[in-house]
Amino acid sequence: MTASELPRHTIEQTWREVVDTARRSAADGLVVGTSGNVSARVGPLVLVTPSGVPYDRLGPRDAVGVDLDGRQVLGDLAPTSELPLHLAVYRDTDAAAVVHTHAVHATAVSTLLPEVPLVHYAAALLGGPVRTAAYARYGTPELAKAMLVALRGRTGCLLANHGTVTYGDTLERAYERTAQLEWLCRLWLTASCVPGRAPKLLSEAQLAEVTEALQGYGQPN
Ligand code: 13P
Ligand code: ZN
Repeated sequence: MTASELPRHTIEQTWREVVDTARRSAADGLVVGTSGNVSARVGPLVLVTPSGVPYDRLGPRDAVGVDLDGRQVLGDLAPTSELPLHLAVYRDTDAAAVVHTHAVHATAVSTLLPEVPLVHYAAALLGGPVRTAAYARYGTPELAKAMLVALRGRTGCLLANHGTVTYGDTLERAYERTAQLEWLCRLWLTASCVPGRAPKLLSEAQLAEVTEALQGYGQPN
């Protein structure tokens, strides 16, 4: 199926969800102004937030869509400058949604450590200890490449001196992972603040045990 064959209501619905998620990231304090970006994939089409446009100004007619090679196939506004990063995730994984933020605690940790210490089992929600991708300028293919290395076996990573990236099979799950990652980094920073004490960490075995237990977490399907 080509992008032009997709039902209009599917595109409209997904665009609404992209905008709602971007607005939520601002409302929850995970981004300031036009920082961050959100995308969702529907078959051959990737809907992305436009570059530098405040999320509260986005309406139904502002949808921006590109194909997996980055060619714009929908809308007039220029796509996010982080298009290489979003497309790299879709090419490399089975993701249907990607969320990028500059969440403050996560970004702080990205300036300090190559990996988020295992202070809590919430790391299992992102596939294990979350790595920090090597620094590269925003919007570059180099940043996308460094991100893919850090994402191996994970559904999220930090971008050094920049922010977070998470993905999922829905926007809801991709967003939830960003919120959990920010919370995890905030927890580590808080626990690390006590002079003369260092937080006790979970072992990989303890995390593996949680990963297994989480298969049965919540309500039965
Ligand atoms: P855009 O406004 O182009 O999406 O850029 C924001 C950003 O976070 C770049 O890393
Ligand atoms: Zn950014």
